[in-house]
Amino acid sequence: MPPEIAQAATPMMRQYLETKARYPDALLFFRLGDFYELFFDDAVQASEALQITLTARSKGEDKVPMCGVPHHAARGYVAKLLERGFKVAICDQVEEPGKSALVKREVTRVVTPGMVLDDQVLDPREAAYVGAVALAEGGGGGLALLDASTGELKLGEVASDARLADELRRAGVRELLLARDAAAGARGAALAAAVGAPLAEREPADFARAGERLRRHLGVAGLDGFGVGDLALGQAAAAAALAYLEDTQCAAPAHVDRLSRLATDEALLLDEATRQNLELERTLAGGKRKGSLLGVLDRSVTALGGRRLAEWLRWPLLDPAAIGARLDAVEELVGGALLREDLAEALRPVADLERLLSRLALRQGNARDLRALATALVALPRLADLLEGADAGRPRAALLAACGAGLRGLEALAALLDRAVAEEPPPTLKEGGLIRRGHSEELDRLVALVEDGKGYIARLEAAERARTGIGSLKVRYNRVFGYYLEVTKPNLHLVPPDYERRQTTVGGERFVTPALKEYEEQVLGAEERRAALEERLFEALRARVVEEGRRLRTAAGAVATADALLALARVAAERGYVRPEVDRSERLDIEDGRHPVVEAMLPADSGGFVPNGVLTASSGEGEDAPQLLVITGPNMAGKSTVLRQTALIALLAQMGSFVPARRARVGLVDRIFTRVGASDDLARGRSTFMVEMTETAAILHNATRRSLVVLDEIGRGTSTFDGVSIAWAVAEHLHDRTGCRTLFATHYHELQDLARERPRVRNLTVAVREVGEQVVFLRRLVEGGASRSYGIEVAKLAGLPAEVLARAREILKNLESMEVDERGRAALARGRRPAPSPPGQLALFAGSDPALAALKDELLALDLDGLRPLEA
Ligand code: ADP
Repeated sequence: MPPEIAQAATPMMRQYLETKARYPDALLFFRLGDFYELFFDDAVQASEALQITLTARSKGEDKVPMCGVPHHAARGYVAKLLERGFKVAICDQVEEPGKSALVKREVTRVVTPGMVLDDQVLDPREAAYVGAVALAEGGGGGLALLDASTGELKLGEVASDARLADELRRAGVRELLLARDAAAGARGAALAAAVGAPLAEREPADFARAGERLRRHLGVAGLDGFGVGDLALGQAAAAAALAYLEDTQCAAPAHVDRLSRLATDEALLLDEATRQNLELERTLAGGKRKGSLLGVLDRSVTALGGRRLAEWLRWPLLDPAAIGARLDAVEELVGGALLREDLAEALRPVADLERLLSRLALRQGNARDLRALATALVALPRLADLLEGADAGRPRAALLAACGAGLRGLEALAALLDRAVAEEPPPTLKEGGLIRRGHSEELDRLVALVEDGKGYIARLEAAERARTGIGSLKVRYNRVFGYYLEVTKPNLHLVPPDYERRQTTVGGERFVTPALKEYEEQVLGAEERRAALEERLFEALRARVVEEGRRLRTAAGAVATADALLALARVAAERGYVRPEVDRSERLDIEDGRHPVVEAMLPADSGGFVPNGVLTASSGEGEDAPQLLVITGPNMAGKSTVLRQTALIALLAQMGSFVPARRARVGLVDRIFTRVGASDDLARGRSTFMVEMTETAAILHNATRRSLVVLDEIGRGTSTFDGVSIAWAVAEHLHDRTGCRTLFATHYHELQDLARERPRVRNLTVAVREVGEQVVFLRRLVEGGASRSYGIEVAKLAGLPAEVLARAREILKNLESMEVDERGRAALARGRRPAPSPPGQLALFAGSDPALAALKDELLALDLDGLRPLEA
């Protein structure tokens, strides 16, 4: 025992220190009476984070810093601490006070950023994953995503550390779990930094013998049934995550009753930059859900559906059959306005089955959870009928029918809970009021005793008055004698022989009867017995629910899928989306496409969104379609919008959604890359240009012919010549080497010259009209290139002062004449027609700078064939 524990001033303090020693990295909430108290450094940290007063226990020399929060308000405080990245260990009194000198206390759960079950803290529409990683030698490894609040556990493996980070960020993990040795290493640290989630370290033993531990937990002979039998490292990560869950919740995680394979290779890849650029779940500015793609799409009714939709958006599919199955279902729902309404109606009472079940399984649920479960379960048969087409008399699309089938089999549990659980039970389990009449005879008798006490007494009183003829006879109660009959002096002669005298008072005498005594014995204590019995009955119901956990989780999954499909259908119907054709080609052919979010956010008086078509095909698709589209046009013309809408339409199609277009054919895209807009990543100490180049490098290294690459204004963060040169070289590489479908928006009109040299490059521009000195944005994408930037006109729209604008025009004129001179000279130096010249071939050494000339000589002197890479 550490000396400071042995020397603790009081037994209570020793108990505290012993407990705290087991949870060194968490703030310990130590229950003392009606408060949770924190001591020592915990108190200092918590008082600061929570803005509560720091006091001291036992004044004088051994002053111990202390602060506390009332136990009934603890949830809010815990939530705040979680937000600040703390872990909190909750230490409760686990026996009635007074039974022993020192009340027994135990940590009943540890709440961490990734291990939260409290619905006050959780966002109902967002999964809350802990991500566990088992690193492989040489790069990559296994990862597991565990959502403690729903019991979902997915595992997979990827080949590089970068992919690990991508997958963990795509899942939005709230906490990263690494083995202690891995966390201490450079790769672990780099991963933690890339993921940007708080780190939890576990003993390496948690990652060991994983297959065996998972099999034991799930009660199965092998893991092949879950499709994860071959993923040893994935299993290691999953086993560690499960151990973490068990330790923090201090209960067996029975609700984690299945594994699934994380779609690392079966999903459209989206790196973090692309996810942010495309504003899939959050806007770039402000991080809001409103204004994101999910904000437009999420017309789901239930939290289950909302989370499923977000999942589909995070992991779009690569299998045309699976995509087709979702599209079939959406199509059926788009075709039936009434069906959509009926479904929404039927889904409304369905609470968050997954999270209810999880809380109940981990013994954190209360009777309100049971009531919510009952209400939800009772609604399922009607929902199943709708989904299976029982009401329409014909079977529905396979996926809808399958969802319907998944909802069956819970009727008995629904009836039991509905009959048993009170309609508006209290949040606590200790004070009764949980169970309805009619569920237990014994309970009904106790309740009758407690609640019908007054009625019983009144009846007894009436009966005794009739029997004795004493009209003023009263039944009364006091603490000393309990129940008694009171007879006034004038009536004492009427008292029957079975009355036992107890007390004489000024006005009369007090009696008891055997019947009254018996009643009293039953009543006193009935309240306590009732509460205890109700708690037992609640426990039995809870156990029944957990027994049916598997079926419940299946039903929850079916509700989630049905609701997500309904959401997609509602959006499609309301916004006029069409079913995309998804195939294994490498084409992307969109007729009159629209940006789903810009369209939805346009003010009503703006004249509406102007649709635009895009056609691009990879180099594997022959010559009939362009591969690389160079899109020019002034600022604010709508270039970014076209770029993003094209990526979003491909992504929507692959998640199984209808798309905003008149017609769309989407050849499967294996990965979407975007480099859109310039955003500083100052938090990570990288300038705009550095971020841009890093992202561009990742694109050039990782894009395949099946990818879709969307580049906006690359090379902008540096000097013009640098910028043009980089943009040119990148475009060339994507066209010649990668061969992927590419959209390239640029300020550099020089890039249009690429089309002269390469037939599969097409120049497009977002049209504007000049009216006097004004530009009017037409928002229409047309063949050809922009001749001017209209920067000054746009600046004028933005309200730059007139004199500044005039001066800018003057400077522009000078610069333009200079540029023509420069180009002319450069071209002449190479003996070519002066204009226009592609900047990629711009004579680098055209100037008269002596340093450049020296460099040129040096370069010319090199023996290129004999040069080794290192020398180069
Ligand atoms: P650029 O990238 O060319 O600077 P953006 O794509 O950012 O321009 O578009 C600027 C604004 O113009 C958008 O925020 C949007 O409000 C509007 N806009 C763009 N495209 C369209 C369109 N097709 N129809 C209607 N409004 C559009």
